[in-house]
Amino acid sequence: MKALVYTGIGCLEMRDIPKPDADFIVKVSGCGICGTDLKTYLKGHHFFPPPAVLGHEFFGVVDKASPGSGYKTGDPVVVAPYAECGSCSLCRVGAGTLCKHKMFVDGGAFCEYVGIPAGYVGTGVFRVPAADDSFTLVEPLACVLNGIEHLRLREGSKALVVGSGPMGALFALVFKAKGIPVTVVEPGALRREKVASWGIDAREPGAVAAADYDNIVIAVNKKELVADYAKAVGDAGTVLMFAGLGKEESVAIDAYSIHYREVALVGCSGYAIRHFRQALALIKEHREEFSRVITHRMPLAEGAEAFNLLSGGQAFKIVLKP
Ligand SMILES: [Zn+2]
Ligand SMILES: [Zn+2]
Repeated sequence: MKALVYTGIGCLEMRDIPKPDADFIVKVSGCGICGTDLKTYLKGHHFFPPPAVLGHEFFGVVDKASPGSGYKTGDPVVVAPYAECGSCSLCRVGAGTLCKHKMFVDGGAFCEYVGIPAGYVGTGVFRVPAADDSFTLVEPLACVLNGIEHLRLREGSKALVVGSGPMGALFALVFKAKGIPVTVVEPGALRREKVASWGIDAREPGAVAAADYDNIVIAVNKKELVADYAKAVGDAGTVLMFAGLGKEESVAIDAYSIHYREVALVGCSGYAIRHFRQALALIKEHREEFSRVITHRMPLAEGAEAFNLLSGGQAFKIVLKP
């Protein structure tokens, strides 16, 4: 089968690799390029030593269904790239994203077929009403919903999203769908205009008073922003560190805000399978709105161009199609 193989930093090439040998196989219809894929391509990643097939935000149709799975060839499905065990102490307190016994899909999805391990079909494969590109957004949206769960949203809350990359844009759309007033701060004019065209208040940095907001999402990996917004957020506010920071980074936090103003600083990464389910339901309900985040659809063979387009900040989500 055809696959876009990451062969080293800054290198992607189309190769022929063996089709997976599994009892349950999904034929990929589309796979979104994620921030992690981009980071791997630009800087390398210890999880993905080359050569590797990247891509985990995918949907497709069942190519081969294992007997008794309840699926048949041709059924459109979306697949969670991982799922927690559901029974360890972390899973039992709802922190499935930290589970040490996760199950994973075998290999990436920037290719034609993905093999699904036998015990995983019931947990991580979900039926969708149609083979539609919007279902590539279920995984990133699941991560966003995990973030939303960490906020303290109340009657009258106002949300501020700092940074309008694809994840910031998804946060803004979720707030909008939930009827929570939201403002986005973004330095890039192109991205700002795009978000504004969806009816979302989008402003330049410096043009907002953070004290007017009680829930702030930091969706840019700049640690100074965390310190600044923890100090500036409204009383009893919450600041979510959504964008990842390096292992060695430290952030200086204004103690007065945490103690006297009851500000909470929280963080999260990844999703638990309940978030994946919630994300799927949300996309089914607001398919058209969420699919606006997909700005480009490109053939898998043009994968390298797609990655370069993303790194230049010219696109939100790009879906690669085999
Ligand atoms: Zn992702
Ligand atoms: Zn677990």
